[in-house]
Amino acid sequence: MDIRLGDTVRMRKAHPCGSFDWTVTRVGADIKIRCLGCGRVVMLERPAFEKRLKKVIKRETEDADESREQEEDHDCEAQENA
Ligand SMILES: [Zn+2]
Repeated sequence: MDIRLGDTVRMRKAHPCGSFDWTVTRVGADIKIRCLGCGRVVMLERPAFEKRLKKVIKRETEDADESREQEEDHDCEAQENA
């Protein structure tokens, strides 16, 4: 499983706060994730993490690149109009 820093992941079980989604804040022998519902940080060993993981929702790099391009286009249009 390829997990990267900044990925948003969905777990099989909901956190007590009701959220299924977490952000990966550290990747190594252990995986550190922060709950998007309540902000709680949990550290899991990689095998334990992968067992609880349902899927990766968002790849930080790909999504960031796309939105950056769109923003740049928008800026250009605004300048041409002005
Ligand atoms: Zn939570």
